[in-house]
Amino acid sequence: MERVIGIDLGTTNSCVALLEGESPTVIPNRGGYKTTPSMVAVTEAGKRLVGHIAKRQAITNAENTVYAAKRLIGRKWNSPQVKNTLMTSSYVIVEGPHDDVRLKLRDKTYSVPEISSMILQEMKIVAEDYLGEPVAKAVVTVPAYFNDNQRQATKDAGAIAGLDVIRIINEPTAAALAYGFGKDLDKTVAVYDLGGGTFDVSVLEIGAHGVFKVIATTGDTFLGGEDFDARIIDWLVSSFAAEHDIDLRQDRMALQRLRDGAEKAKCELSSVRETEINLPFIISTGRNEALHLQKTLTRNTLESLTEDLIERTTTICREALNDARLDIDEIDDVVLVGGMTRMPAIQAAVTTYFGREPNKGVHPDEVVALGASIQGAALLEDKHEMILLDVTPHALGIMTFGSFFEELIPQNTTVPTSQAKVFTTSRDNQTAVKILVMQGESKNAEENELLGEFILTGLRRAPKGEIEIEVTFEINTDGIVSVHAKDMETGQAQSIQVTATSGLTQDEITEMIHSAKDYLVERRTDEDFEGAKQEAETLMAEIEKMFPEVERIVASSDFGRDAISKARTVLERAREAISRKDADAVREQVEGLARTQRMFKGVVSRAQ
Ligand code: AMP
Repeated sequence: MERVIGIDLGTTNSCVALLEGESPTVIPNRGGYKTTPSMVAVTEAGKRLVGHIAKRQAITNAENTVYAAKRLIGRKWNSPQVKNTLMTSSYVIVEGPHDDVRLKLRDKTYSVPEISSMILQEMKIVAEDYLGEPVAKAVVTVPAYFNDNQRQATKDAGAIAGLDVIRIINEPTAAALAYGFGKDLDKTVAVYDLGGGTFDVSVLEIGAHGVFKVIATTGDTFLGGEDFDARIIDWLVSSFAAEHDIDLRQDRMALQRLRDGAEKAKCELSSVRETEINLPFIISTGRNEALHLQKTLTRNTLESLTEDLIERTTTICREALNDARLDIDEIDDVVLVGGMTRMPAIQAAVTTYFGREPNKGVHPDEVVALGASIQGAALLEDKHEMILLDVTPHALGIMTFGSFFEELIPQNTTVPTSQAKVFTTSRDNQTAVKILVMQGESKNAEENELLGEFILTGLRRAPKGEIEIEVTFEINTDGIVSVHAKDMETGQAQSIQVTATSGLTQDEITEMIHSAKDYLVERRTDEDFEGAKQEAETLMAEIEKMFPEVERIVASSDFGRDAISKARTVLERAREAISRKDADAVREQVEGLARTQRMFKGVVSRAQ
């Protein structure tokens, strides 16, 4: 039987699910985890690592480990979001050939869809391992507020991963599907989705017989957990600078450790009121002396550092309700999605804004993939009674004389939809007409996102104004835009030359599909235990090599002696797990070994 998997390709974590019988089920990866970090790395030996294994080595290989690639997908090199990421990322971002963004890992440069394809491929493998058979089709989710360039780039990522992406659906819509599936509800719900990198709010009507109709959607594709972490990092960096007059950001490894420590503290503060951020040997003074970072962060401080971010989300909720022309009391239920909604201040802000406790019935990390799997099954087999009507998050239009934006399809129009417009020549014998297609909400075309230049070529020679070309702008159910044109007089299709303004050409995608296949062969030969053992043994060898030197450097302090004894215990546990041939236990120890190795490397490099 043909299967379709649902993939939530997240900024921080990704998740894959499948509809088994009538129940949508998340598929755990080999380590038993239900989500996989959206991280990709290349090791010194040129090996590609994806997921947990990439995350574990991120600190010691910061420059060659990509995280949060979703924040860059489909973006132009010159966009403010790319500029912002350039300043804070520990990996190298360079300009691509189509005004796009490329990422440099070791000696190779990758497009962002290629990096995302590696994550999609990993999720495909997770599903295939579980099912014991190949999987070809998938429904992949994107933030509702993604524009056409971002959607197209995500689709390209699917193609490079060897997946037939049968539908792209919006994350909050997927969450609503999972929330209402099989329940025969009649409700208006708001989905508040704050993940690692993006924020979306959608308002939906869920009607009888499985009709899910989105009324309005809005959001910010550059607002998420990463921004909360960044606030903690700023706080740590400035207090460290005040104390020691050293800028921790100058050191990639220190920055990656700060990022790790900040995220961990943020998550802990969702259940405790204060936590300690403890990063020993974070940097050297240059006088042969290593410094430690030790700070207590309280929930109150975190809340005041991030108050404006939380406020931005409620402002966006207000916009969504305005767009939906609904009052707050017309919302029957609020569904929270995304890891960040575990933060108590966010739950409190949502409760205050909507005047009701949000629904606690869905799992914030899993619900999007579950919804995607439901949609996948519904598309494949006709038996699930379900109708999904989504909207376009941005207005579609063209640039007219004087840089004005002429809107053709308004925001929140149900898709699929199309709109035709007649163009004519402005000069005698004019053989080409250029149309700039864009998406956005500003009257000023330059502030909107340029999707492409469509050039109608080979027009018949005629006096000006005589030729009329009807151009149809279409948005399909994936939210992807296409443009067709025909000569009004002859009825013939008019050829259009599309200049991609970002993203990839077809040739580039084909080439990338080939190289992705080679990798798959390599990945499949990795045996479970052998893989974990190898990883553990490499780390153990490195730690043991550094042991005498680290002991010499730190043995004089209590802090150092304690660190040494903990390292010994970690090595002992790892040896024991290997001798038992227990893959899960070895994998568990790898975390501790990686931490120890990072700390040792820090000590040794600071002392040099
Ligand atoms: P998602 O994209 O839905 O996987 O959300 C990931 C984001 O949620 C990341 O920024 C995480 O740091 C954050 N997150 C996960 N768990 C928690 C938690 N318990 N408290 C606060 N934030 C969390």
